[in-house]
Amino acid sequence: MLQHMEGDVWFNGELLPAKDAKIHILTHSLHYSGAAFEGERAYNGKVFKLEEHTERLLASAQTLQMKPNFSIQDIIFAHKLIMERNNVADGYIRPLIFRGAESMNMTNDILSVNMMIAATKSVPKVATDAHLHISKWRKAHPNSMPPQCKSSGHYTMMIIAQQEAKNSGYSDAILLDWRGYVAECTTTNIFFVKDECLVTPIADAFLNGITRQTIIELAHKLGLTVKEKHIELHEIMKYDECFMTGTSAEIKRVQSIDMSEAFDGKKKIFEDNRISNLLTTEYSELVRR
Ligand code: PMP
Repeated sequence: MLQHMEGDVWFNGELLPAKDAKIHILTHSLHYSGAAFEGERAYNGKVFKLEEHTERLLASAQTLQMKPNFSIQDIIFAHKLIMERNNVADGYIRPLIFRGAESMNMTNDILSVNMMIAATKSVPKVATDAHLHISKWRKAHPNSMPPQCKSSGHYTMMIIAQQEAKNSGYSDAILLDWRGYVAECTTTNIFFVKDECLVTPIADAFLNGITRQTIIELAHKLGLTVKEKHIELHEIMKYDECFMTGTSAEIKRVQSIDMSEAFDGKKKIFEDNRISNLLTTEYSELVRR
């Protein structure tokens, strides 16, 4: 059996074997993709920034007009239960809030709001350097898709962009926003470095990741300058270093960005890794504190 299907899941307040946590084929969120979810990491038995993740989960559910039956405290306690049950100290945790199968209408008051939490053992992958390209797809205008809502619908485009990147031999893709500014990668935020100054796009059209915010705080504590700005594609050529950030990937150094499809036939190679190495060490210590 697949590793993530072993053990138990927390499902609507109960702990039950993952293989028995069945949902109906007409589940609304499967058809219309209106589910809210999180991706979290536990270190030494503690989920890093659990409160922030749970607040974001509940805010995403609210944006999707779902009222879960569980409070922030209930959800935090449920994490403890499922992690203990599955004996997860270092792991990946996936809470999901979704509509049930009571109706095939787009909206209907009889639709239930359900919640599950899966906790699996996992340690971050040994980071290999990433090779990116620029996706032809752009992040939706903030008036078309709420960027701070971590909804399954949002990931339709991220799946297409990531699969296309992999099919072409890249690790991942950078997506631009509707204005043509650099936004983020498919499941991570992005940072550049020039002369010990971190430069990252303003999070006005993409998810303001919890790891992104953590890295900005960490950089300030280390006395580094951080500039949040709109970044145009051609600016990438002048940076010395680049890395991606996300809960699952943590910090992943970018070695190259192929911009040939998007900008003047250029490929940018990043030679430096001093700042990403420093932040990786500091982040790794912080999450285990
Ligand atoms: N952007 C996208 C599209 C993501 O899916 C993620 C992962 N949640 C991130 C950024 C990074 O967010 P976080 O640091 O909160 O994991």
